[in-house]
Amino acid sequence: MLNVILCGAPGSGKGTQSELIVEKYGLQHLSTGDVLREEIKSGSELGKEIDVLISKGNLVPDHKMIHIIAHYLDSLPGDCKGVVFDGYPRTVEQAEALKMMLERRGMNAVMLDLQVDEDEVMKRLLNRGKTSGRADDNYETIKQRLKVYHEVTKPVCEYYLKKHNYFSINGNYNMDYTFSQIDSILTMIQQASK
Ligand code: ADP
Repeated sequence: MLNVILCGAPGSGKGTQSELIVEKYGLQHLSTGDVLREEIKSGSELGKEIDVLISKGNLVPDHKMIHIIAHYLDSLPGDCKGVVFDGYPRTVEQAEALKMMLERRGMNAVMLDLQVDEDEVMKRLLNRGKTSGRADDNYETIKQRLKVYHEVTKPVCEYYLKKHNYFSINGNYNMDYTFSQIDSILTMIQQASK
């Protein structure tokens, strides 16, 4: 199993790179942002609570996210080759829960950290906001998302760095260049595990 955690600031290209990884390596894609937006669309009570948090740029509480991930892992097909985790874990508590959930299933995960300069992500998100229809792609909310990223999610990268399951990716340039770095790392990991 090749489980990949894509970490990076909002607008760093996690979604785009996830799709490229999924296509080449045949993995499943879990975008927690997409799962949460689906819940909002369903109009459920939970969706309404989530909507308030997301549209202000804040995180959904850990226990809710951990529940979603546990359910997702239980529903993976038997022939699953691995998962790209896009947007999870975003807190150290979520990382610890994921580690336990994966270990229980005899798996582990590697983190790829997409590093993109702050003015570049701001530019990308404001541009995306013109067409995405996402309530959180506006200047004030992006500022808050970046603040949360630095304060709460960055420590997750250090968590994986300490466990030697960490690779840094330069995501400032075009998507092909970014993917070429990711591809080399994943190919190397696959070869080493044969
Ligand atoms: P981005 O990375 O551009 O912020 P996402 O689609 O990954 O976009 O996430 C959108 C929002 O969904 C986040 O700002 C947060 O409010 C919520 N969210 C997504 N994943 C998580 C998570 N693992 N824990 C808590 N909240 C999350």
